[in-house]
Amino acid sequence: MSDHKLRIVPLGGLGEVGKNMMAVEYGEKILVIDAGLMFPENDMLGIDYIIPDFQYLLDKREQVCGIIVTHGHEDHTGAIHHLVERINAPIYATPLTRGLVELKLSRGGLLSQVSMNTVQAGGMAQIGPFKVEFFHVCHSIPDGVGLGIDTPEGLIIHSGDFKFDHTPVDSWPTDYAKLGEFSGRGVLVLMADSTNADKRGWTPSERVIEPALDQVFRTASGRIIVATFASVISRMQQVANIAITHQRSLAFVGTSMNENVRISRKLGYLDIPDNLVVSVEQALKMKPNEVVLMCTGSQGEPSSILGRLSTGTNRQFDLQSGDTVVLSSHPIPGNEESVHKTINRLFRRGANVIYDAIAPVNVSGHASQEEEKLLINLVKPRHFIPIHGELRHLHQHADLARELGIPAERVATIENGHAVEFSIGVMKLGERRPGGYISVDGAEVGDIGPSVVREREALARDGIVLVNLAIDRSTCQLREEPEIITRGFIIIRDSEVLLAGMTKLIRETVRRGNGDIKEDLRNTLLSYIYNETKRRPMIFITTSRE
Ligand SMILES: [Zn+2]
Ligand SMILES: [Zn+2]
Repeated sequence: MSDHKLRIVPLGGLGEVGKNMMAVEYGEKILVIDAGLMFPENDMLGIDYIIPDFQYLLDKREQVCGIIVTHGHEDHTGAIHHLVERINAPIYATPLTRGLVELKLSRGGLLSQVSMNTVQAGGMAQIGPFKVEFFHVCHSIPDGVGLGIDTPEGLIIHSGDFKFDHTPVDSWPTDYAKLGEFSGRGVLVLMADSTNADKRGWTPSERVIEPALDQVFRTASGRIIVATFASVISRMQQVANIAITHQRSLAFVGTSMNENVRISRKLGYLDIPDNLVVSVEQALKMKPNEVVLMCTGSQGEPSSILGRLSTGTNRQFDLQSGDTVVLSSHPIPGNEESVHKTINRLFRRGANVIYDAIAPVNVSGHASQEEEKLLINLVKPRHFIPIHGELRHLHQHADLARELGIPAERVATIENGHAVEFSIGVMKLGERRPGGYISVDGAEVGDIGPSVVREREALARDGIVLVNLAIDRSTCQLREEPEIITRGFIIIRDSEVLLAGMTKLIRETVRRGNGDIKEDLRNTLLSYIYNETKRRPMIFITTSRE
């Protein structure tokens, strides 16, 4: 019995912002916390999203006794259908989180085969050897929880995503009393959200954006378009409240936003009167100063509504002069460039754009340094593991913990795949498994490896050349002029010179005709094109012999 170890294995979210997933293992049982996705970086072309590599769980799939989802954001729920497709374990979530997870599962036709369990903040569930207590935390979505996980080795606290907001939009602050109570019982290890560990002070209350939004509504003469994440339910409530004050009707654009609104209203987490909401079609027929539209795309994603509006490729409606666009969310680290480009394009198309550098129209849902310190002081953990953040955030958070008196040897700054073990109250770093990712490209899961992404990068950067040679079977010489098609790298005014040069080289190479003509030709063309254009396109050569 005593040879049973407690093992904590981060599978995602440690060393990055996104695709959060954690395994807590005791004896022969594993509890999974969250199963999120991450949107790809700019240079991962054609990848829709990426999910954690959870091979570790697949190898032990019989041992997984439950999956807890801490809240309804995509970086905690977005991989859930990929997980339950392969692992049969019950899901535990609070009512709103459950509703949002069920939406995902029903889209994948998986809902009927998964056992769903509703838990309440303040409630408890026995899951295998783990006694889990759910405590309420403030965040930018209602009904988020942190976890107190009682194990035979000791008590684990997992903060989920949290902030200490005394005046949250839903008037439901973080459960400080419970955190104090945990510390009275003795906490083996605290794992806490590090997203804002490099921000000094306190994260402002969600309420502070209301005056800024009010100012926007007071001065906008045309339509107002507010862009945020489809799952930032608190922001929808705030926009709805202000729309009522300024007598504008509210329309939600896009499927994900409408479905999230429907579930949140049904479950009582969004209080929006029926007569406030209109369809997009209705909104487009109304006077511009009588409507506000909410849509996705605040991260500059090209395929989102805002992304399409910025490039004039949105099907249902277009930007018009007098529109005010509000970007109500911080760029996720790595997305800054595409967000700024989107803002520039929106201005170019005639919209007035309000973003957080101009007015406080957004506030973070994550704790800053003083709140992170308060959490550590409330919980008084013996050990500390920073979670949810890039490596710089994790290190900063670990520094804070040491400042507060937790000895360095009891702080573990680890990344995905790096296990931590506890035995008789002592923490030890375990083995490190590769903590990779799996890409999801449309319906394909995991087929797109790094090499395909590299090829797509090459295509995007340097273009392609297709050469078709009609070769005479008896003479092995060209029967016709070679056919050359290029895409993506030739500037028109240079193209004639370049094509003539390529044609000449192809003729010479075929005339020489020694060895593998395709390989020879590919190398010859590549060095010629590189000399002329400094590009390395992908070259495809086909031959037809007659
Ligand atoms: Zn979150
Ligand atoms: Zn998160």
